[in-house]
Amino acid sequence: MQKVKLGWYGPEVSEICFGSLAISPLQGKVSAREGTDLLQYAFERGITWVDTAEIYDNYARLAPALGRFPEVRVVSKSYAVSGQEMRLSIEKARKALQRDTLDVFLLHEQESAHTLRGHAGAWQELQEAKSKGLVSWIGISTHAVAGVRAGALQPGLDIIHPLLNHLGLGIIDGNLAEMLAALAFAAELGLGIYAMKVLGGGHLALETEKALAFVHKIEAVQAMALGMSSRDEIDFNLAVLAGREVDQELRTRVKQQERKLHVADWCQGCGRCLPACPQGALHLGQKVVVDQEACLLCGYCGRACPHFCLKII
Ligand code: SF4
Ligand code: SF4
Repeated sequence: MQKVKLGWYGPEVSEICFGSLAISPLQGKVSAREGTDLLQYAFERGITWVDTAEIYDNYARLAPALGRFPEVRVVSKSYAVSGQEMRLSIEKARKALQRDTLDVFLLHEQESAHTLRGHAGAWQELQEAKSKGLVSWIGISTHAVAGVRAGALQPGLDIIHPLLNHLGLGIIDGNLAEMLAALAFAAELGLGIYAMKVLGGGHLALETEKALAFVHKIEAVQAMALGMSSRDEIDFNLAVLAGREVDQELRTRVKQQERKLHVADWCQGCGRCLPACPQGALHLGQKVVVDQEACLLCGYCGRACPHFCLKII
């Protein structure tokens, strides 16, 4: 697996980061044991880092694999607003992941300079954690063009984790050209950049090679987090990015894994899940209605439903 450097000052990592939302209880595709085994399989094949988040609720699945591969780097993120919340988030991650130092910690889903200002206390705490050696690099994740531009100008920021795919699916405030321009601006400042939603949350699964090749060629973006919930997906992605011929049977198996968000019949139409969706993909009828085109299959909404109505199947 090709190694890349995340920006001027970031770590050297494999071009693929294991996106662990795919092995979290939120997506429910694999058991805890299967998730840990998949991570180990990926690390044995040269993937050197894993991306998680407090909301993914999967630290316990990561910890055994990280224990066996202490050189593997880990990224986590939190929605913390205040300094106290961020302190708790960092402590929770250090304890649950059994790491004295977290390699990268991000503020989750920052939309703009305004959002970042609202998280000033959490940002200051992140900077202090870095100065104490509890975290090595800090940054933000974002689905927004304005988030990338604000992150690029944020004092002390090392890494941006933006949404990026060749159709611009999921960008909440602009188009693909605007996102690429913002990323080029951030890269010129030396920031580390690794993309998410390269497959548009599953919508581009039938054109995986094209989707990976697109991000691979963007000069401003050094790496990409890919959600993988089977050995086939790991093998497939590694082969594509290494430029190796992909076995036809493997290709067929990977492309058959189409998924969608399902709303259970017993949904009461209470609307509590709507604010949990960063894409605005949920609407209220008699029960909740999913805009499958806009849905990125992140699974965040499932946690907000007290009746367990939302599942990715
Ligand atoms: S509806 Fe929204 S929160 Fe739920 S899975 Fe889709 S994108 Fe994620
Ligand atoms: S899915 Fe759950 S939270 Fe959303 S409207 Fe239905 S019952 Fe309410």
